[in-house]
Amino acid sequence: MTKTATAAAPVTVAYGDGIGPEIMTATLDILAKAGARLAIETIEIGEKVYRRGIAAGIEDSAWESLNRTKCFLKAPITTPQGGGFKSLNVTVRKSMALFANIRPCVSYHPFVRTTQPTMDMVIVRENEEDLYAGIEHRQTDNVTQCLKLISETGSERIVRYAFEYARVHGRKKVTCISKDNIMKMTDGLFHRVFNRVGEEYPDIEKNHMIVDIGAAKIAAAPHIFDVVVTENLYGDILSDIAAEVSGSVGLCGSFNIGQHGAMFEAIHGSAPDIAGQGIANPSGLLHAAILMLRHLEQNEVADKIHNAWLKTMEDGIHTGEIFNPQISSKRANTRQFADAVIERLGQNPAHFTPVRSVKGAEGIKMPQVSLPRQGDKKLQGVDVFLHWRDEKPVDDLAGQLQSLSNSLKLASIDSRGLLVWPDSAAKAEKGDHWRCRFTAANDGAEVTHAQIVQLLQSLAQSGMDFIKTENLYTFDGQRGYSVAQGQ
Ligand code: NAD
Repeated sequence: MTKTATAAAPVTVAYGDGIGPEIMTATLDILAKAGARLAIETIEIGEKVYRRGIAAGIEDSAWESLNRTKCFLKAPITTPQGGGFKSLNVTVRKSMALFANIRPCVSYHPFVRTTQPTMDMVIVRENEEDLYAGIEHRQTDNVTQCLKLISETGSERIVRYAFEYARVHGRKKVTCISKDNIMKMTDGLFHRVFNRVGEEYPDIEKNHMIVDIGAAKIAAAPHIFDVVVTENLYGDILSDIAAEVSGSVGLCGSFNIGQHGAMFEAIHGSAPDIAGQGIANPSGLLHAAILMLRHLEQNEVADKIHNAWLKTMEDGIHTGEIFNPQISSKRANTRQFADAVIERLGQNPAHFTPVRSVKGAEGIKMPQVSLPRQGDKKLQGVDVFLHWRDEKPVDDLAGQLQSLSNSLKLASIDSRGLLVWPDSAAKAEKGDHWRCRFTAANDGAEVTHAQIVQLLQSLAQSGMDFIKTENLYTFDGQRGYSVAQGQ
């Protein structure tokens, strides 16, 4: 680690892989010429570190810097395929508790080709949970599983942040995007939290969209959105659609923020196809750096760079991937583009409205959330997932299970959510993964953990391969589990 500057705000910088070093050098040069007051500590991350056998792609000494500065300007890295390497981004987000990913997506019509000339939206994506918890299992020869975890606290934190962001930035509407018509419990929780928290923001318009139509609308009519708040996976996909629709993934910056730090990066990857040629567009990383300067309360410098960048775009100085002979005046390489921005520091754009940082935006309140009230929780049964392959029909499995379960009764069997026993509308396809639901012999009565253990013992003794169990609870009388399709 080397200290390369000693002024004001401590920042950890990683040059990354592929085009990373080229665009980071250009970005830092612009920042320095604009008078950004940064004390930069450089760390190494990514491919070289992975190749040294460090599965996380980051050394312990780099964590020391991040823990100290709590501010990370990161160039893209290349994640080697396979070989047990972990995603560095996911590791950093989790370790720094960066619960929110914020991606502004703006179109720069007419200077950048886009079908959506009036787009100006911000996607606020939950960053820590959902399918990205990385809890995956292979359960049978045929079936693998990835666990989707959505918490009330995680949902509340991101939803509150989105409303606070909207309020501070003078935005008028927050749209929640989920898939709660299908995932009624997990996405249903996210949507309910949005409705509850939204009541505290009467000044802001609220609506909800199912993710499929939401994605279609972002692609076809993004001007109807202002701020979007969504879960981790949907946010990942929607923010790339939004960035692409705005004109170029090469232009978008984003930041990740949490209670204890922030990370700023371009949204694109390390672009190995053009690495080393000096032709990459540094704008995405530059935008991330502008967002960082605002976070560090260096609004004047941020605005100076932002306006010089807009002026450069207006003057038709464009890198190759957005170059358009009808509108561009010069095809610039990375260095030339950076120099053009530097030359324009202090100038304002003429076509675009000059940017002025919103005062106080850097100090958006970090939402404080607490665990929900403890509910009246009652154990009502258990789902036992079995790895069972047999030529015999499922009725045969049901017969065996009925003979084993003495104090609990077999209520149903389904195959990947589709009911196959007792009454099946669908003809059971051959499979090896069965969810067998056991409840109390007397309908509605409570079940004990001891009964479940006893059931599992009998299953083990008869050679049944139970691959997992899920207890069935009610909370304050409300069912806390789904039923199979057809049930
Ligand atoms: P990519 O974003 O690197 O490239 C996609 C296309 O966009 C390429 O044609 C590339 O040349 C072009 N492009 C991207 N950035 C550009 C820029 N600044 N200027 C001009 N053109 C640009 O996506 P990919 O090819 O799918 O991924 C390459 C590597 O990057 C992979 O190893 C991936 O894991 C990694 N990646 C890293 C991050 C990150 O570090 N945050 C994000 C995404 C992908």
